[in-house]
Amino acid sequence: MAAQDAGAVAGAVAGAVAGAVAGTECGRSVRIMALAAHPDDIEFMMAGTMLLLGQAGCDLHYMNLANGSCGSTEHDAETTARLRDGEARAAAQALGATFYPPLVDDLAIYYEPRLLAQVASVVREVAPDMLLLPSPQDYMEDHQNTARLGVTAAFCRGMPNFPVQPPCAPIANDIVVYHAQPYGHRDMLNRLVRPDLLVDIGAVLDQKTAALGMHASQRRWLDESQGLDSYLQTMVDLAAEMGALAQGIRYAEGWRYHNPLGLCAPDSDPLRALLRERVVPSSSGC
Ligand SMILES: [Zn+2]
Repeated sequence: MAAQDAGAVAGAVAGAVAGAVAGTECGRSVRIMALAAHPDDIEFMMAGTMLLLGQAGCDLHYMNLANGSCGSTEHDAETTARLRDGEARAAAQALGATFYPPLVDDLAIYYEPRLLAQVASVVREVAPDMLLLPSPQDYMEDHQNTARLGVTAAFCRGMPNFPVQPPCAPIANDIVVYHAQPYGHRDMLNRLVRPDLLVDIGAVLDQKTAALGMHASQRRWLDESQGLDSYLQTMVDLAAEMGALAQGIRYAEGWRYHNPLGLCAPDSDPLRALLRERVVPSSSGC
């Protein structure tokens, strides 16, 4: 255990939880950073929760590590990335989130020092109280590597001897990390991943659908190959599959807690504190 771990564990974040209830922390808005792999990943697996957190007064930040360059059979990589950049920016705006540009091409997300230094710089710049990451178990390596990079970027946030690029001063705040469900709710071995928490997103499903719809190039591609509105319907079906895990909820997003060691106090759970009755354990009603 690094010295920093003990400090982070001992230094309870009572304020993070208590302050989170009002959507503020030490007089400023609670900062939420969603870090995903590709344009539209956030909209599929995280955006409902983000919309609710925005309504609770949180300050939202939005970043995809890859630029979506492989998301077309029609355009070249550069054109595709440019198209998808515009779509992702529009989606971030629809969610009320600050947009951060991607760092690499699709399939170039590796757990390696250069990219880690860049991700860690953005995490220090944002200084989130809560970091929303992909599932560490997922069918796709880009998603898994994004989860790993995000966790380490949060872990080294206060380490002056870890050089980030571009340079950015270390930060001291705790970061509570939650992992979204894997795409399709299944891991790389096609096993169902059961979340710790469910967030009832029924009230914002229309807004989440509208944000996903901003990814027009992907929507067109899937709709043409798999039928009208396949793209949006897939997201709604995924939300319904989570909703079925709890009584009285129709559409939900699932989340799992990351181990708090080195990140935050053991009992930190600002997601529950902020969204209260909209959050239920996934075992409820099963
Ligand atoms: Zn993806």
